[in-house]
Amino acid sequence: MSTPAEIQRGVAELLAEHHPDTWRYLLAKHMPDETGHCQGCRTSSRGAPLSPCNLWVVAEMAQWIASGARVRPFD
Ligand SMILES: [Zn+2]
Repeated sequence: MSTPAEIQRGVAELLAEHHPDTWRYLLAKHMPDETGHCQGCRTSSRGAPLSPCNLWVVAEMAQWIASGARVRPFD
């Protein structure tokens, strides 16, 4: 069974390899607002989680993978 970190890493690898527009979009969209909450995750019913949200973390990981960086302490 995969751990959450392994699932995150797998999604990041998929985005890095096949969906460069998606991780770029997520990085741009899920920036913190002036109160430190994610703008991209905000909903009218639940508000917004603290930044960085899970989507931003995965997108940043995809950016690192796409850049060819081999050494990065993700865990
Ligand atoms: Zn977000």
